[in-house]
Formats: sequence, C-alpha cells, structure tokens
Amino acid sequence: PDAEPSADSPIALELADVTRRYGDTAAVDGVSIRVRQGEFFTLVGPSGCGKTTTLRLIGGFEAPSSGTVRFGDRDVAGVPPEDRDVGVVFQNYALFPHMTVGENVAYGLRFADPPGDVSREERVTELLDLVDLPGMTDRDPDELSGGQRQRVAIARALAPGPEVLLLDEPMSALDAKLRERLRMQVRSIQRELDITTVYVTHDQEEALAVSDRVAVMNAGQVEQVDTPRRVYRRPTTRFVAEFVGDNNVFSGTVRDVTPEADAVDRSVEASAGDRLATLAVDDTSIRVALGDRSVDDGGGSDGRRSVRVGDRLTVCVRPEDLRFLEDPDSSREGAANALRATVESAEFLGETTRVHLRRNDRSLVGRTRDPLSGVVSVRFDPTAVHVIGVDRDGTVD
Ligand code: ATP
Repeated sequence: PDAEPSADSPIALELADVTRRYGDTAAVDGVSIRVRQGEFFTLVGPSGCGKTTTLRLIGGFEAPSSGTVRFGDRDVAGVPPEDRDVGVVFQNYALFPHMTVGENVAYGLRFADPPGDVSREERVTELLDLVDLPGMTDRDPDELSGGQRQRVAIARALAPGPEVLLLDEPMSALDAKLRERLRMQVRSIQRELDITTVYVTHDQEEALAVSDRVAVMNAGQVEQVDTPRRVYRRPTTRFVAEFVGDNNVFSGTVRDVTPEADAVDRSVEASAGDRLATLAVDDTSIRVALGDRSVDDGGGSDGRRSVRVGDRLTVCVRPEDLRFLEDPDSSREGAANALRATVESAEFLGETTRVHLRRNDRSLVGRTRDPLSGVVSVRFDPTAVHVIGVDRDGTVD
C-alpha cells in the first residue's frame, strides 16, 4: 500500500491485439495493453476514440471481435461481468433513489459475500469510512452532493472486494472544483486498497494528475503507453504531442548536424557535449539539441542520437518553454529558434495566461505571466525541443 507498482509487478490484466467492430467501424482497433497489479492505469483520448468500449471489454460487457482479454494469465472470453471480479462505476450509473446510502452500498454485495470475516452491515460501515462518508448509512441519495454520490457508487463497486476497479468518467457530471477534489480522493482510496484500477477520461490534465501510467488513444488505437511525465515530455507521436499539453509541433528536414562547440550562433544554449541539428522549417530554422539529456525521467531513446543530414524530423516545444519579447528585435529574425508571431488571443487562467499566436499559417501556443499583444518575438532553447520522430527514407524510428 502507498507504494507505486514497480515495472516488475505482475500483470493483473492484459488486452492482446483486441478489436471490437460495430458494423464497418472498429471502435477498438488492435489494442494491446498490460496493466500491472496495484496500478492506476488511465485510458485518455478525445470523444469517440474507444475508451469506453475498451473498458467494457475489460469488464465483460462487450466481447472482442478478435483478440484476447486476460486477467492474470486466465483468458476470460465468455466470462460474464459478475464472474470477473471487477467493480465498475459508469459515467451515469446513478444510485437507486428509493434506497438509503447503506442499502445502495449493500447492493454491491448481491452476487457475493463481504470479503473477510465481517457482516454486511460491518462491510457497509467499513466502505463508507473508506470513501470518507462516515455515518451516512441512513441518508437518502438526494441528500448528498454529486461528489458524495459518486463516492457512494465507488463504495458500492468496492463492496465485494474486487481485484480490479473500472471507472468510466466518474466525475464528468461534477463541477471543476469538485472534480479536482474527487480525483485526489479516488487516487487515495486506490492507493489505500492497492487495487488495480482502469480509469477512463477525456481530460488529459486529470489523466496526468492521478495515474501511474496513461494510454493515449486515438481512433480506436493506442498511440502511447507511458508515465504521465513521459507522455507529457516525451510524446512519441504528433497526436500525443498535440493532445497532451498543447505542444507546438514542427516538421522539417535536417540541414546540418554540428557538435555544440562548433555552433556558429553562441547565443543559443545547449549543454556541453550536445550535438545540434538544424532543421529547415518553413522559412525559418529550428535548432535541436541531440544530447542524451536525462532532464527528468532517465532519458530514453527517441532516435535523436542517430540523426543525420537529410532526415525528416518531427519535433515539439512545450508552451511553457517558449519565451517572449514584445517589440521584436528584427535583427534576430532569421536566427535559429527565433520567430516573429502575432498574438491572436489570450486566455487568463490565473496562474498563467495561455496565448495563441499565429505566424503565417501556423499557430503556436505559449504560456506567460505577463499580458502580451501585437507582434512578439518567440524564442526557445535547443534543449527544449523534443524529437517526436525521425523519418529516414519513409521509416520513422
Ligand atoms: P466518449 O468519451 O464520447 O464516451 P469513447 O472514447 O469512450 O468516447 P466509445 O464510446 O468507446 O468512445 O466509442 C468509440 C466508437 O465506437 C464511437 O465512434 C462510437 O460511436 C462507436 N460505438 C460505441 N458503441 C457502439 C455501439 N454499441 N454500436 C455502434 N457503435 C458504437
């Protein structure tokens, strides 16, 4: 309990090349994922990408058109939901209004006895304590707030002591503040029980905030499975870069690869030993540090070590790594990693302001503390440029 599952925790459940078709469309298209015991694993992606269908396949509410779902090493094909040892909270899985809170939780025990040596009443009390609703047994659901009701639904799902908890957008009906509180509560309940959890959300911020690992889905497929930090900092596809964190994505051809010491323009920063690749992007150039930086998470190979002149690179720069100068210095125009752009709009978010910029037909997203308007000069360091993919003769590393 309270420890994160390590990379060698046993696999609690696995989808191997699972496809689910409805007529001509594949709602889930060749998905392979492995969830470890005790892991908080999140499926995130835009509406219609197949998250709910994937969860329903795990729960046994749908059968795959092809592929295999395993719990541990047991193929669960044909095993109905009530025999899968899963607790499920669906988006709009409302409580029964004519039952008390306690009766709603006890309903979770209709197929099973309480785990351990406790009575049903004791189990209900235990669960209401767990979800931080002590003493609420005799309340009616309509006396509770939305967040409290969802916690009752979670208690009901957990009542029989399932191996796996499945949560499908359990907070979608709640307001922003409550969502934030409930997601931390869900995370802490999950940690306390050390229960394998698969969580569905379309909200990338929520996914990053609560998960051990995240699977980013797009059009029925999984684009990347990684820790929140890696999904955010080291996206492996353009879609992931754009979906998680508003990244600015550029593609260009490598004109030049130089040892850092030989870089002509000394005003750009790179760490000692980095090689620098210069990409031609539209009418400007972007310089990328190719060093093996372990900025945050132990590095990892993304193909940039082998970058050569002539390769086509797709790279991204996070909004918070853009720096702005109002009153742009036109003498720097044309230098690497310096662009002039026009501020189109700004969203004040409290802690920061998200600015939307335009340069020719390209849009960029940045973050600042200070208000910005008009034409600005945008800069970023070569070390802030992440290589998403390298395309050499049509193959992406
Ligand atoms: P949302 O966040 O909007 O719920 P989602 O990512 O959970 O989306 P799914 O609900 O899994 O996506 O749906 C994936 C695709 O499969 C969608 O195009 C959907 O219309 C389709 N689909 C899902 N269930 C069915 C069904 N029972 N019959 C036909 N098409 C379906």
